[in-house]
Amino acid sequence: MEGVKGLESDLEAMRQYFRSGKTKDTAWRQSQLKGLLLFIKENEKHIFNALKKDLGKHPVEAYRDEAKLPRVALLSSAELVPEPLGLVLIISSWNFPFGISLEPLIGAIAAGNTAVLKPSELAPASSSLLANVLPTYLDNKAVKVIQGGPAVGERLLQQKWDKIFFTGSARVGRIIMSAAVNHLTPTVLELGGKSPAVVDSLASSWDKQVTVNRILVSKFGACAGQACIAIDYILVEKRFASTLVELMKVMIKKMFGENPRETNAIARIVNQQHFLRLKSLLRDPAVQNSIVYGGSLDEKNLFVEPTILVDPPLDAAIMTEEIFGPLLPIITLDNVEDSIAFINSKPKPLAIYAFIKNEKLKRRMLSETSSGSLVFNDAVIQYAADSLPFGGIGESGVGKYHGKFSFDTFSHYKAVTRRSFLTDFWYRFPPWNDYKLLL
Ligand code: NAD
Repeated sequence: MEGVKGLESDLEAMRQYFRSGKTKDTAWRQSQLKGLLLFIKENEKHIFNALKKDLGKHPVEAYRDEAKLPRVALLSSAELVPEPLGLVLIISSWNFPFGISLEPLIGAIAAGNTAVLKPSELAPASSSLLANVLPTYLDNKAVKVIQGGPAVGERLLQQKWDKIFFTGSARVGRIIMSAAVNHLTPTVLELGGKSPAVVDSLASSWDKQVTVNRILVSKFGACAGQACIAIDYILVEKRFASTLVELMKVMIKKMFGENPRETNAIARIVNQQHFLRLKSLLRDPAVQNSIVYGGSLDEKNLFVEPTILVDPPLDAAIMTEEIFGPLLPIITLDNVEDSIAFINSKPKPLAIYAFIKNEKLKRRMLSETSSGSLVFNDAVIQYAADSLPFGGIGESGVGKYHGKFSFDTFSHYKAVTRRSFLTDFWYRFPPWNDYKLLL
């Protein structure tokens, strides 16, 4: 590329090339690395000349520092030493107010930091328990819980932190990142988005039943769909859609009763604002013909019935915004393989759930899609796997935590090199003689 002429189209061509999968090929990567090596070997003289012109560097110095790996590293050892970052800020959301507050706090303390936790004001009972009781178990000089909403959050963001760990919406995530810029503060953003579930036209009745059970419990039975990793929508082949819907109807009644309003197995919507947000997604005139199950609302009790929609328009808000509630759109496709292109046409999700048995399709899903996590034949359980990092990619988040990854997130791995005084190599030191180039 020369200058910035045609920049947009050049970059788009590069994106397309990336999407083609070419750059994932091992042979391609090897050939490109060989190309880099060859560039250095064949252009050594030109490199020396350029460095002489730009910086007045002697070829021996250039050779030592920019052309070949230095041999001066003999008789040395290298190690990584984790050190805590200092004072960190954790801002959390309301939907799993303990898990999402304590899990990062564990990492921050385990790594040796001091920490301020600001839970969400939208779960006030949980927030006040965290603020009033948690500190009695901990060293108050090192851990503080500060309650409050956006104004308190903004006040905290004006301070200098050694790391900010945020769980919440992409909207506030952007505010966090721009505030962090002022102090060059590293930031973890645990965001959300629209996580799809792909369901293949499963043949055995056992597989179908297991799939439906797992979808329903992870969507409606986990904070009523108010979970960052909840299934947002389903992609299924047209020919299998009605079977899936019928099985779901039966199982919703079995799990949550004939009158789901009376069940204690479905959480309530957190507040009126979120209830009205869900109401507007559901009462959108464009989606009325798509509702095939549920659809009732009870504002007084902040209850939204588990609801299934089939093929709502793709430009309706329910298909463009994160749902974060018990509404489940099903999008039908001619062929289950088309799900890959569908997913790739949207921002990278926090999770992809693929209920498929076909090994070839599994391999394609793994290599041709990108998401924070990928789960075959289940949903949401990846959150509990501490051996796996948890986090998003692209618009679903930045950074990872859980288990050892939490420790790493709140640590700086200092690169330590130790040298012996024993030997040294004369060719490292000036004066430079051209014959040193031969060594
Ligand atoms: P939110 O962004 O509205 O609020 C999150 C936190 O930010 C709260 O503590 C809030 O008080 C604080 N906040 C709000 N405005 C602020 C401001 N201007 N400055 C500083 N702090 C501010 O999100 P929410 O409604 O609590 O949570 C729902 C969102 O969180 C969904 O998008 C969901 O997907 C996402 N989420 C992600 C994860 C994850 O682990 N990736 C987990 C749970 C929820």
